[in-house]
Amino acid sequence: MAFQDDLTEYDQARERMVRSQIEARGIRDPRVLAAMRQVPRHLFVPVHMRGSAYRDTPLPIGEGQTISQPYIVALMTEMLELTGEERVLEIGTGSGYQAAILGLLAREVYTVERLPHLARNAEEVLRQLGYTNVHIRVGDGTLGWPEHAPYEAIIVTAASPEVPSPLLDQLADGGRLVVPIGPRWTQTLVRVRREGDKFRKEYLTSVAFVPLVGEHGWDEREGLLRHVIG
Ligand code: SAH
Repeated sequence: MAFQDDLTEYDQARERMVRSQIEARGIRDPRVLAAMRQVPRHLFVPVHMRGSAYRDTPLPIGEGQTISQPYIVALMTEMLELTGEERVLEIGTGSGYQAAILGLLAREVYTVERLPHLARNAEEVLRQLGYTNVHIRVGDGTLGWPEHAPYEAIIVTAASPEVPSPLLDQLADGGRLVVPIGPRWTQTLVRVRREGDKFRKEYLTSVAFVPLVGEHGWDEREGLLRHVIG
């Protein structure tokens, strides 16, 4: 598709994306749909990929990482059941696109990225777009961000062998945590709901995410990703 640097073309592509990829697949939360209509996804992908930004697919953002498929962003966001009052924790800032969506739907967003270069890029785009309620930190997100806990919603946008226990500790009573759990190449989207000291799990759909690398995630030593045991 020959996109010019023309806002109208991107706006039209984004509207088509919301209708054909997101509404058509059953996302109903009007606030989520409005946010997906608003955030200029093309500004979160590398410049040479802007013409593909509204396609029904994840895209590479450098350093072997990806911006998630639009539908998966919408689905995971809807699963968080945001009303606008929440403090949200995101693990895996990547491009910053999911954080921008969350920034429109919650009060404060805290997002952790392990790769400094990606964190810097995301910070710059979010700053240019005027987001003041999205806070980025470089570090191992499997440890959460305890200083701002508890969070009413936590979203992990990288795949983990199991739910990192620090994130359960930092989830507020009544809070929702959405995370892809499973082996290296394919996972299940899981929602954990905290009820006091109980954690109720729901299993949704199959997904494929890049690995969550860290103390409570995958180990990347020896070139082979191994689950850290103990
Ligand atoms: N939410 C992103 C997509 C993220 S891809 C977006 O909207 O574009 C997954 C990201 O998780 C990658 O950027 C990867 O570097 C990051 N990541 C992997 N392990 C991590 C960890 N332990 N802590 C923080 N970020 C991590």
